Amino acid sequence: MAPSSAARLWTTLVLHGCCLLGAAAAAAQNSREVILLDSKAQQTELEWISSPSTGWEEISGLDENYTPIRTYQVCQVMESNQNNWLRTNWIEKGDAQRIFVELKFTLRDCNSLPGVVGTCKETFNLYYQETDAEVGRNIRESQYVKIDTIAADESFTQGDLGERKMKLNTELRIIGPLSRRGFYLAFQDVGACIALVSVKVYYKKCWSIIENLATFPDTVTGSEFSSLVEVEGTCVSDAEEEADNSPKMHCSAEGEWLVPIGKCICKAGFHQKGDACEPCGRGFYKSSSQDLQCSRCPAHSYNDREGSWRCDCEDGYYRALSDPPAVTCTRPPSAPQNLVYNINQTTVSLEWSSPADNGGRNDVTYRIMCRRCGWEPEECLPCGGNVGYLPAQSGLVDAYVTITDLLAHANYTFEVEAVNGVSDLSRTQRLFASVSIATSQAAPSQVSELIKEKVQQRSVQLSWQEPEQPNGVITEYEIKYYEKDQKDRIYSTVKSKSTSATVNNLKPSTAYVFQIRAFTAAGYGTFGPRLEVTTKEEPSVKFPGTKTYIDPETYEDPNRAVHQFAKELDASCIKIERVIGAGEFGEVCSGRLKLPGKRDVPVAIKTLKVGYTEKQRRDFLCEASIMGQFDHPNVVHLEGVVTRGKPVMIVIEYMENGSLDAFLRKHDGQFTVIQLVGMLRGIAAGMRYLSDMGYVHRDLAARNILVNSNLVCKVSDFGLSRVIDDDPEAVYTTTGGKIPVRWTATEAIQYRKFTSSSDVWSYGIVMWEVMSYGERPYWDMSNQDVIKAIEEGYRLPAPMDCPPGLHQLMLDCWQKDRADRPKFDQIVGILDKMIRNPNTLKTPLGTCTRLPPPNTPDFATFRSVGDWLEAIKMERYNDNFTATGYSSLESVARMTIEDVMSLGITLVGHQKKIMSSIQTMRAQMLHLHGTGVQV
Ligand code: AMP
Repeated sequence: MAPSSAARLWTTLVLHGCCLLGAAAAAAQNSREVILLDSKAQQTELEWISSPSTGWEEISGLDENYTPIRTYQVCQVMESNQNNWLRTNWIEKGDAQRIFVELKFTLRDCNSLPGVVGTCKETFNLYYQETDAEVGRNIRESQYVKIDTIAADESFTQGDLGERKMKLNTELRIIGPLSRRGFYLAFQDVGACIALVSVKVYYKKCWSIIENLATFPDTVTGSEFSSLVEVEGTCVSDAEEEADNSPKMHCSAEGEWLVPIGKCICKAGFHQKGDACEPCGRGFYKSSSQDLQCSRCPAHSYNDREGSWRCDCEDGYYRALSDPPAVTCTRPPSAPQNLVYNINQTTVSLEWSSPADNGGRNDVTYRIMCRRCGWEPEECLPCGGNVGYLPAQSGLVDAYVTITDLLAHANYTFEVEAVNGVSDLSRTQRLFASVSIATSQAAPSQVSELIKEKVQQRSVQLSWQEPEQPNGVITEYEIKYYEKDQKDRIYSTVKSKSTSATVNNLKPSTAYVFQIRAFTAAGYGTFGPRLEVTTKEEPSVKFPGTKTYIDPETYEDPNRAVHQFAKELDASCIKIERVIGAGEFGEVCSGRLKLPGKRDVPVAIKTLKVGYTEKQRRDFLCEASIMGQFDHPNVVHLEGVVTRGKPVMIVIEYMENGSLDAFLRKHDGQFTVIQLVGMLRGIAAGMRYLSDMGYVHRDLAARNILVNSNLVCKVSDFGLSRVIDDDPEAVYTTTGGKIPVRWTATEAIQYRKFTSSSDVWSYGIVMWEVMSYGERPYWDMSNQDVIKAIEEGYRLPAPMDCPPGLHQLMLDCWQKDRADRPKFDQIVGILDKMIRNPNTLKTPLGTCTRLPPPNTPDFATFRSVGDWLEAIKMERYNDNFTATGYSSLESVARMTIEDVMSLGITLVGHQKKIMSSIQTMRAQMLHLHGTGVQV
């Protein structure tokens, strides 16, 4: 029996049983495998190469389903030295890296074959050869790489009784990594009896899957048994990667997906259904990918499309920017209810209750709109920033507000609006409750800031601004002050009509507290904030008395004197604006001074003209050395000097109304007696201060008094005796030196005895100048005649409308014996008394007339009313007198002020001049008729 047919005989039998087994095994294979070769699957001949051709033989058979299968068999067990090769067709490896070779075969047990000892084998060898393409049909053994020697786990025998003990062996071998495009497998038989029932070649893949909403593609396993291939997933449509958690998986060598990391989630507007994301239905939304489910639209919102991330608010409803999509849509609240008010002068309190509808929100607050109105509603304007709201104007949580600092006597409309988080989004009309209120008369508001302008040892100069709401005309300010240590148990007050004041008579090195309040017809306002000021230390070198004037001439170096008493100013702080006058040494200008950290103040700037001599410079600065020692509200205040630049300047507080004589002439007859006495009181106070300091002025006259915008008079023009030279009124006297004769006391004229008492004489003349609105003392009498008349006992008569008490004071100042003259301190006291009792200032007509000097126009010498009018320079009214029948001087002497006015003389100054002369005329006539009037 030919071996091949013998083999065929038993193989057919074997196959019948083994194929059942093989089919069951194939079913167990999972889908991770990619088959490259499966001999069982091929129904036509395999046509592998067998070498030599007497070796392996292809035999067809049928499995139990009668499906044809291909097998190769060899059984050359009788002969020695067998070397039979069988090579598969070329297998293209594709993207495989690791190839699995599964062999199924049967092998005959040599013991069961008689007569084969020595030649029969029970193994065969498995080889492969890598190539990039098919090669020829010749098998070159040397080019093959051995995979393994394959032995049967189970071989079989055939028993005598025909009992079949056949076993199908399955062996699996793995090859790789492979580097060429394909390969051949080869089976070497060395003398065994084998039936190769099936050869299956495959590699493994992880097949595409969707995991956590991410798609992972087909992935070939790695080349090593232990390697895992990391694969990035791609989110399915309408899904997105979870933040910082991109999806990944690992493909194992066995083709299994392992270790999922990260995930995808459905985008906003979509939710997960199985392995996909589906849009939210109409009327539903999903606002974020983080949310799992779509939710139904919240109240007052809707949507009519699928896949929405939010719902739109119904008309009239809104969502605040900070509202999340899950929140109900809301609307502005209705108006506040039950608005009531309460007025207290210029403060209004409003109260109300919450709106009936809060719009569906819990963030309702209130805001106030304030409008000031005229009489017509359309005349309303917003109140502006000066009005105060307590606790606030908007964002009010509680239903009340207090509105302060309103204007007195004004109409206001207040609107209270309830607002919530969507009010500003709403385009519907605002809803508010409103009231219209009229404020009443009110005291002035507080002076917000008190500024210390100058601090001395015994005085503090303060300034301030008018309160923001004067609520009327401020007639006065009251400054309250006390020593800080004393608290305000003991306090003093000082009044001021202007927005500055100097508080005197303070203790040195002492802390004081100052407060100020304004006064109007409605009363006092409340005191403003406290200002604490500590007065300066007493200087270590003491002069006799606490305040003593030091003559700059006692300094060897006049420059030292200037810098001892005057502050050197930086010229850049001074802005010169315009020329306002001419001084002896140069122009006088107005301008502004801005010191660092202080408000700028108006100033007068006296300049020293170019080309000055050293002496002129010294004399010029001498005034500053003197003025700088003074600190009194009625003495012109020195701001400082500029000596280290050109021009050399003296900077003085600005006195808006200039010199007093010119000022009075300009405003002839325009002030009340009280106002005039007030001016005199100021001058006397300034002089009291100077005399207390031991300073003798020598040139006190109305032209040397300056007036500020508040009619405060201040003594100015300080100089040494020789500086008086610049006074045009000063004339040379027989005693030498120039003297302003009409203002100077007799002893000073006669033997240059200048004292505070001679200043008192001059003060009397100033009184006369003031009460006669700047009339020239002794009119146009010559200086010589004035000296003579005084010597003979003549004194100036009372000016028109002059209260007798005042004229008496003048006469007292002109006492021949200077010891009989009052002191400035007494003068201040007398004037204060008069001011407190205005009745003493009434003028009984004719009571204060005095004799005219002997060489005053003698009315007896006038031939006519015309002569008289010419003498007093009023000839322009000649016709007025004659036309009304005043043709004789006697008839004129009986005229009253009403008579003068009835002539059509309207200028007050002229009325006064004429009346004053008529009074003198009357006195002269009385005198002539023997009715003596005491001089
Ligand atoms: P005097 O050289 O001091 O006589 O000044 C000349 C003129 O300048 C005076 O008559 C005033 O009109 C004016 N004047 C001087 N000082 C001031 C001042 N502080 N404020 C305003 N005007 C002043």
